[in-house]
Amino acid sequence: GFRSRAAFKLLELQDKFKLIAPGDFVVDLGAAPGGWVQVAQQLGAKKVVGIDLLEIEPIPDAVLLKGDVADEAMMTRLLEELGDKPNVVLSDMAANTTGHRQTDHLRTVALVELAIEFAFDTLKPGGTFCSKVFQGGTSAELLATLKHRFQEVKHAKPPASRTHSPEIYVVAKGFKG
Ligand code: SAM
Repeated sequence: GFRSRAAFKLLELQDKFKLIAPGDFVVDLGAAPGGWVQVAQQLGAKKVVGIDLLEIEPIPDAVLLKGDVADEAMMTRLLEELGDKPNVVLSDMAANTTGHRQTDHLRTVALVELAIEFAFDTLKPGGTFCSKVFQGGTSAELLATLKHRFQEVKHAKPPASRTHSPEIYVVAKGFKG
């Protein structure tokens, strides 16, 4: 079985957008407890490296790092572990909510920006980026940046994401390099 309910969201996104293909090198940002890593492996990814602030229970053949995506040395290590540029960068990162709406919003936007920056710096041409974003989707500015660098950019709310949840996902395919 999968370790998270989030796994079913990735499966639904996969059905709709064909994010991961056999042989892919996949990076998973905010990977704990590991559901998306399991799904990526099941879809035939050649190598999966996940990172999270939290410790992740081992998954055979996956590299799971404990660290902050904002830590550049950590992200360099992640790329070394991957052994090649990623075809796919996934982010399901979410900050612990403080209850203060504006603070939560800013922290979430900062995480999406981190994920986008990492994808821009590392993806193979033709590569795919998929990230959790919240209410209203990505900001107009982030969306414009993504549209500039990818052939196709879409928003999706997978059915497994509860209707009342503000989360949606942005899917960007065909990285222009
Ligand atoms: N996709 C995962 C799965 O299927 O098991 C679930 C991910 S969970 C919704 C979001 C994760 O993002 C949390 O475990 C949290 O610790 C992680 N996270 C938040 N900020 C992070 C950061 N700056 N660096 C690394 N991980 C982060």
